[in-house]
Amino acid sequence: MKLTNTFCILLLFFSAAAQDGPVRQLKEQARESGRFIDELDGKTDGLRRQADADYAYLENLYIHYHTHPELSFYEKETSKRMAEELRKIGFDVTEKVGGNGVVGVLKNGEGPTILVRADMDALPIVEETGKPYASTVTTQDEAGNTVGVMHACGHDIHMTVWAGAARRLAAMKGEWKGTLVFIGQPAEERSGGAKAMLADGLYERFPVPDYAIALHDTPDLPAGMVGYCSGYSLANVDMMDITVFGKGGHGAAPQTTQDPVLLASRMVVALQSIVSREISPLDPAVVTVGSIHGGTKGNIIPDEVRLELTMRSYSDEVRMALIEKIKRICNGVAMSAGLTEEKYPEYKLREEYTPSVYNDPQLTERIRQVFIQTLGSGNVRQMPPGMVGEDFARYGRTEEQVPILLFWLGASDPELFEAAQRGALSLPSLHSSGFAPMPEPTIKTGVLAMTCAVLELLRR
Ligand SMILES: [Zn+2]
Ligand SMILES: [Zn+2]
Repeated sequence: MKLTNTFCILLLFFSAAAQDGPVRQLKEQARESGRFIDELDGKTDGLRRQADADYAYLENLYIHYHTHPELSFYEKETSKRMAEELRKIGFDVTEKVGGNGVVGVLKNGEGPTILVRADMDALPIVEETGKPYASTVTTQDEAGNTVGVMHACGHDIHMTVWAGAARRLAAMKGEWKGTLVFIGQPAEERSGGAKAMLADGLYERFPVPDYAIALHDTPDLPAGMVGYCSGYSLANVDMMDITVFGKGGHGAAPQTTQDPVLLASRMVVALQSIVSREISPLDPAVVTVGSIHGGTKGNIIPDEVRLELTMRSYSDEVRMALIEKIKRICNGVAMSAGLTEEKYPEYKLREEYTPSVYNDPQLTERIRQVFIQTLGSGNVRQMPPGMVGEDFARYGRTEEQVPILLFWLGASDPELFEAAQRGALSLPSLHSSGFAPMPEPTIKTGVLAMTCAVLELLRR
């Protein structure tokens, strides 16, 4: 296309005028960020050397956490150790916030407040990694069964990186201004910890953060890499128990009964039409009936059947729609069988709901740039959203509307990861008895990434 000179001049004029508005603002932001990134470039080497020098300390800490796992809500010793780690580098530490929660505050002049969270609980799993430092811990669960205990979700990596980043930031107070709020959160696996810490005044008794950051390790990336997902990244997680009522009797005389086994079966099938027919295909959602129990014997029609469901979604609208539609459909099935209203199913939505993680897009982009600069673009990967849950979401869901970011930290041995990519083997997932992060590159990368992310938000 050929443009006349006059047209070109006009175009230049308009683009210059446009720069007075948001365009100029954006450019300034980019310049500011670029300047920081140049500075960071100079500092990264030093930071990397310091992180390397601190690794022996952190490895001991990791092995301590790994060999002393504690179940959700029972993280007494773990939380004590987390508090100790912060106290000895000058944080003002408060324990027992929302149960076993730990809050460490480090003030360093006027500036933003950044919350960094690590979760601390382990899972009731017997470790089968074969590592020399594998957990041999057993305990009694709440039902009185003896269970193995293992950091199979890698929260020991999170706690170690958290301490490592705190140590780096405390050692370089000349490089930043503001307030650090480092929190150790209990009971992530049972989705109660974040809620309990907030209910115990996390945002009233301590400085309210301008941003909240956390990381989660993953076998889906090799150690040395980090991943990010902007916007909705993890799902709303709900659990519902449904009791389906009928009228029991002899299996040979079904005409005298109202068979709840048949009703429950119809419900399981009918519920699958919610996602396929009633929710937009552009809104991700899951309805799974994971448990169905009723009856004792083939020739007895029971009085009731129990269903256990899990539902996943991203938006609150879809979440509420799923709950309402499940009730409507099951009530409809009961009605069609001739049951009267008092015999309609009973619904119990479990309280241990986890809200979806929404990674603030601006914050994600800002930190992504820092990761690229720190780790190289080949080590920063966009990750797809998932339908599992993480209660870190709650720190961004209060009236303060704190922008949050949960990023992924690669934890797989790069050689095994590569073999898995070729299909030569499959890597154990999180929550598996074989999940074994590769400590050194994972922890070092985590410390570097987290420290640089916080420095970016607190730059002088
Ligand atoms: Zn987990
Ligand atoms: Zn986890």
